[in-house]
Amino acid sequence: MKFQLSLLKFFYLSKELVVIGGGAAGFFCAVNAARMNPSLKVTIVEKSNKLLSKVKISGGGRCNVTHSCFDIIEMSRKYPRGGNFVKKTFHQFFTTNTIQWFKERGVKLKAEADGRMFPVTDSSQTIIDCLMKEANRYGVQIMMRSEVRGLSVRTSLDKYEQGQFTLDLDGSRSITADYVCIACGGYSKSSMFDWLRLSGHTIEDPVPSLFTFNIPSHPVTRLMGVSVDPVTIRIMDSKLEESGPVLFTHWGLSGPAVLRLSAWGARELKERNWGFGIRVNWLPGIHDQALRERMQHLRSSAASQLVTGKNIFGLPQRLWELLVEQSEIKTGTRWADLPGRQQNRLIHHLTNYEFRINGKTTFKEEFVTAGGIRLSEVDANTMMSKKVQRLFFAGEVLDVDGITGGFNFQHAWTSGFIAAKNIAAMP
Ligand SMILES: Cc1cc2nc3c(=O)[nH]c(=O)nc-3n(C[C@H](O)[C@H](O)[C@H](O)COP(=O)(O)OP(=O)(O)OC[C@H]3O[C@@H](n4cnc5c(N)ncnc54)[C@H](O)[C@@H]3O)c2cc1C
Repeated sequence: MKFQLSLLKFFYLSKELVVIGGGAAGFFCAVNAARMNPSLKVTIVEKSNKLLSKVKISGGGRCNVTHSCFDIIEMSRKYPRGGNFVKKTFHQFFTTNTIQWFKERGVKLKAEADGRMFPVTDSSQTIIDCLMKEANRYGVQIMMRSEVRGLSVRTSLDKYEQGQFTLDLDGSRSITADYVCIACGGYSKSSMFDWLRLSGHTIEDPVPSLFTFNIPSHPVTRLMGVSVDPVTIRIMDSKLEESGPVLFTHWGLSGPAVLRLSAWGARELKERNWGFGIRVNWLPGIHDQALRERMQHLRSSAASQLVTGKNIFGLPQRLWELLVEQSEIKTGTRWADLPGRQQNRLIHHLTNYEFRINGKTTFKEEFVTAGGIRLSEVDANTMMSKKVQRLFFAGEVLDVDGITGGFNFQHAWTSGFIAAKNIAAMP
């Protein structure tokens, strides 16, 4: 009799959380809420036939889970949008908590020299297995191939009716919930957010972030595979500037400095339809005058040596040769015979090389959409909407995005955890 009563209580009195989206943020919210409040019924509703699909392909199949940064202010500077928001959320669940959370579940993370953290297995499947195991352990229900198309809130609550929310699914189905966590990720088109606009929220227009720069049929594309570090890139007619490694690809420029520029400039560059000029300093830190003096010295100390042969500044040889060629220095020119005009041009190309960017290519390793739910409408302490009680948000659906390096997953874990904690504690 007692057992039947508790079953009855579970089915009729326990509250239900529906998480929209079976990605990193959705899973983290679902498994933590179910663990923290065993009487809560938790269901993940996923539109596709795959779970955690981005986790699977992330970091080249290794999943760059987080970044080994243990200072909240420093970490928050890695988010072109949402830096102030994560500054608050990280106080509740930070990189240290992510590392610990996975460690407690048998998943050890390691840091690479550039700070990116991966599971020691170097396989994203380890992360997926861990999250799936947690979901099974705490009885999280999963509805696949179920797209949420609308969300409505009941204004007058009938105490005998279950749930405050009604979620309309494809196929004219619907489900109810007491709490909803929206973790549906970023959408590439503004119209895809319409069902969320109808819930009363404002959407910051989506724009791509983390892309590489196209320079179709420019001679530098011959240098495919060559990298230069460090390089400073400045976007013309803008304040955007970044330094770091650059990689030549067969379609243009990639590497951390380019990706960071694409993230910081996501909105500005979209407005320019991804057509803009950049100036590259291949030798940041060496002043023009110092270059001139070094070259003057070479005219006597290496007078009979070829300009192409003497790569004095440690640049990759193929880049040096290209810059010499672009400065219209004839093949076979020796240092002693280098005309002043060509020397000036070479100095200009070394420190101020101009490219015209024409289009972008999505970075295969990591890609995010900037934009999403306006942050002023969400309470960073709880992840609950300021407009709709008991409606929560987590992950990329929010107008938060980081540069490449594990920052986007950290935001997914943090926001998913905070939403879970607050839902689990609600009456
Ligand atoms: C190729 C690639 C590699 C990446 N690598 C890294 C990396 O190494 N490190 C890092 O930090 N970040 C990386 N990122 C970014 C990171 O994957 C995302 O920021 C993160 O996955 C966001 O998690 P999320 O749960 O918010 O959204 P998602 O992972 O996008 O999950 C959202 C889920 O919701 C579902 N959904 C959407 N709409 C609905 C609906 N209406 N109804 C039901 N379900 C719905 C989607 O099908 C999806 O499964 C990478 C991204 C890509 C594309």
